Amino acid sequence: MTDLLDDHFHDACGVCGVFGHPEAANLVYLGLYALQHRGQESAGIVSVDERMFLTNRGGGLVADVFRRHELATLKGQQAIGHVRYSTAGGSISPRNRQPLVVDTAYGGMAMAHNGNLVNGVPMRRQLERRGSIFQSTMDTEVIVHLTALSRRKTFPERLVEALGQVQGSYALLAMNEQCVIAARDPYGVRPLVLGRLENGGYVFSSETCALNLIGAQFVRDVEPGEVVMIGPDGLESFFPFPARERRLCIFEYIYFARPDSIIDGVNVYASRKSIGMRLAQEHPVPEADLVIPVPDSGVPAALGFAQAAGLPFELGIIRNHYVGRTFIEPQQTIRHFGVKIKLNPNAHIIAGKHVVLVDDSIVRGTTSRKIVKMVRDAGAKSVHLRISSPPTTHPCFYGIDTPTQSELLAALHTVEQMREYVTADSLAFLSMEGMYATVNGSRTGYCDACFSGRYPIPLPRQEENTQLSLLQET
Ligand code: AMP
Repeated sequence: MTDLLDDHFHDACGVCGVFGHPEAANLVYLGLYALQHRGQESAGIVSVDERMFLTNRGGGLVADVFRRHELATLKGQQAIGHVRYSTAGGSISPRNRQPLVVDTAYGGMAMAHNGNLVNGVPMRRQLERRGSIFQSTMDTEVIVHLTALSRRKTFPERLVEALGQVQGSYALLAMNEQCVIAARDPYGVRPLVLGRLENGGYVFSSETCALNLIGAQFVRDVEPGEVVMIGPDGLESFFPFPARERRLCIFEYIYFARPDSIIDGVNVYASRKSIGMRLAQEHPVPEADLVIPVPDSGVPAALGFAQAAGLPFELGIIRNHYVGRTFIEPQQTIRHFGVKIKLNPNAHIIAGKHVVLVDDSIVRGTTSRKIVKMVRDAGAKSVHLRISSPPTTHPCFYGIDTPTQSELLAALHTVEQMREYVTADSLAFLSMEGMYATVNGSRTGYCDACFSGRYPIPLPRQEENTQLSLLQET
């Protein structure tokens, strides 16, 4: 299912930045359009023109936040932007919109961050005790304060000193009056790429799909632990942190990234489709008549499943693409309105059929339960739910919001109990081996903590974790 349905979910964020183009803000605006799937809660762009920082941020979708005349005021050759769905820092409050812009002893600075700091709360407390006054509840602001406090000579040195004190995941863009800096945490949990514009300018983006839209050439991924600075003297790259084993979030391939993006050399669509093929081999459904995706997230895997199983692929559920985030759900009159407004079964296709229903993941299980019921009510003879990832048993602390462990259906239930809960005739998940064999053929190099509980970046002590989740809920 998609993110619009469940307000309780928090997406990872998306970042985009341009250096060296007279229409920097316009290009970032387009880039954010392409990254909209990474966050729908707020969007913002900051540009620099003649040492002035110009800002436009607002709540909602990119299309709603930026008015033509406001965009036109974002002049300058460099700009960074952000789309957000909160993890640490909570939602709604306008204070929590990025990019952050501040004045420091060294001049202005803007910052946009995708990721989550695992020591964000203790660092913040420390800074507050030293007198820092925070304007937001975002952990990104910790990096801003640390950078402002640094006594190092240059902007990249100050940023690096700040980043050296935080732990967690970040794909980050920072900007002063002269340069744009991109940094990716030493594990490379969240993706970040570098591209080149036709006029020779540079662009950074969370995903390659933004480069395609603005006609930029993909140059390369920003490497884990790398800091790339682009300024008047061109591009400079540093590796200031001790080398770590690369740990890209495997869930980017399963669900988050856009299917047309290429992450670390792997096309997301291709990996999802081969995952679906593998799923068909691991968990075939001999009696099936057809394969139906849960749109949109289940589509590539369902295609792969259907091809591998030699079954028809049909759009048995139709998604309404025009549902915004805010709608009023009638309290009593129509039940499950939330799902129905967005997804409708195509009974013509489903009635009388044995159906394989494919989705990418089960988190709480509430969506799957509603959709299985919907398909059954539309006349399916049987509903076999196939999930194109292993069971989600552990929460993410690195930038993807998942509920607490006790709310994760797979944390406390067997597959059979889950099947019963979602009321499917059968339920099966992709194996870990299957996931790795199909995503990239290699088992190393990924964070799979949500499926395995193996957290590559050490988590803070339990009480700090509790504070962290409290903060997330504010
Ligand atoms: P549920 O099992 O009802 O909690 O929701 C599972 C659905 O949410 C799946 O169909 C996924 O496509 C989608 N999903 C999984 N993880 C996330 C996430 N972090 N943010 C938004 N949607 C998600």
